[in-house]
Amino acid sequence: TYNLCLTVCTWLSPRRWLNLQEYQSKKLMQESGVAVQRFYVADTASEALEAAKRLNAKEIVLKAQILAGGRGKGVFDSGLKGGVHLTKDPAVVGELANKMLGFNLTTKQTPKEGVKVKTVMVAEALDITRETYFAILMDRSFNGPVMVGSPQGGMDIEEVAASTPELIFKEAIDIFEGVRDDQALRMAANLGFKGALQRQAADQIKRLYDLFLKVDATQVEVNPLGETPEGQVVCFDAKINFDDNAEFRQKNVFAMDDMTEADPTEMAAAKWDLKYIGLDGNIACFVNGAGLAMATCDIIDLHGGKPANFLDLGGGVKEKQVYEAFKLLTADPKVEAILVNIFGGIVNCAIIANGITKACRELELKVPLVVRLEGKTALDTHQHWNTCTKVFVLPL
Ligand code: ADP
Ligand code: MG
Repeated sequence: TYNLCLTVCTWLSPRRWLNLQEYQSKKLMQESGVAVQRFYVADTASEALEAAKRLNAKEIVLKAQILAGGRGKGVFDSGLKGGVHLTKDPAVVGELANKMLGFNLTTKQTPKEGVKVKTVMVAEALDITRETYFAILMDRSFNGPVMVGSPQGGMDIEEVAASTPELIFKEAIDIFEGVRDDQALRMAANLGFKGALQRQAADQIKRLYDLFLKVDATQVEVNPLGETPEGQVVCFDAKINFDDNAEFRQKNVFAMDDMTEADPTEMAAAKWDLKYIGLDGNIACFVNGAGLAMATCDIIDLHGGKPANFLDLGGGVKEKQVYEAFKLLTADPKVEAILVNIFGGIVNCAIIANGITKACRELELKVPLVVRLEGKTALDTHQHWNTCTKVFVLPL
């Protein structure tokens, strides 16, 4: 239950975290003078082939774009292994893109069935002599931003962190001071960059911090931050998370959110200002407020049930929203019963009761509905219920 609460807690945050694709993050990096390679983006195999030719690079890397890491070691349901491929032949890019686009890519960070790939990135490939890990993130335990780095970055960083934690270096940043030269140089040295490369890496670190501030990020992660035989320090991968509270001043960044990987029911709910979270049980929960949602979840759990989903009405609710909420809940085939648990503080229970009874009549409710309304005008709602069948109203 504790774990479930934690998960639900994250899910019930006002808006899901904005997530950008790698190519979008790299565009932001380019604008901040961070070293990334030339790239194009393609939605079809023929576009990918054209892009590969246009790149005119010695070697090309083709990368599936999904909002999850671990792509390098991922598998497509087309049978193709690896979401990141290197080749010298543009024709191969076309063939590979054919086995990526429209197929699901499963990695250790995706759900089992994977995520459908709609876009690929076609970029210049470089030889990498060494892969390091570098990230800047907001960390509560430091009350501010922290740099995290490891000389052993790349696709096994989780393993490195687990088995050799001494290879993970942290450096707290004073938000008022920014990254000092000595800090950037020390981190670069900890990442294993030497001589001129150390200065170059320190410079990249500072630029990444500038970007972190500029876009109101909560995390900027580069894995790998690589070293090339030609003596360049390059960001080969990019993952940026943003502070949703900064949406009002990061309009350009948030406009990049294409929502293509968002859950369709969550999106339909968002349209009506409702928060929907799908779970895997069979009891639909219709509640108001995140706290009550979690308490309801716990109660169901305690009595041996499993929630199928949550629909959080929030405050200031209108009858129409209640109706739409029921439409969403009843559309889920897993749902065998609906539990309404509303505390009328800001919400007026009469509005909820009106919405529910209208929905019961018009949607021909097929599953039992258990209603608990408490608070403002709750007593007045009892006359509503005798117009509905299958409704069990819990006494106040
Ligand atoms: P993910 O983290 O999702 O697995 P990455 O972008 O980190 O995806 O790519 C996986 C690996 O592919 C990297 O660790 C690196 O070894 C290699 N790689 C990625 N981009 C390039 C590139 N442009 N040139 C050469 N190798 C690359
Ligand atoms: Mg990576």
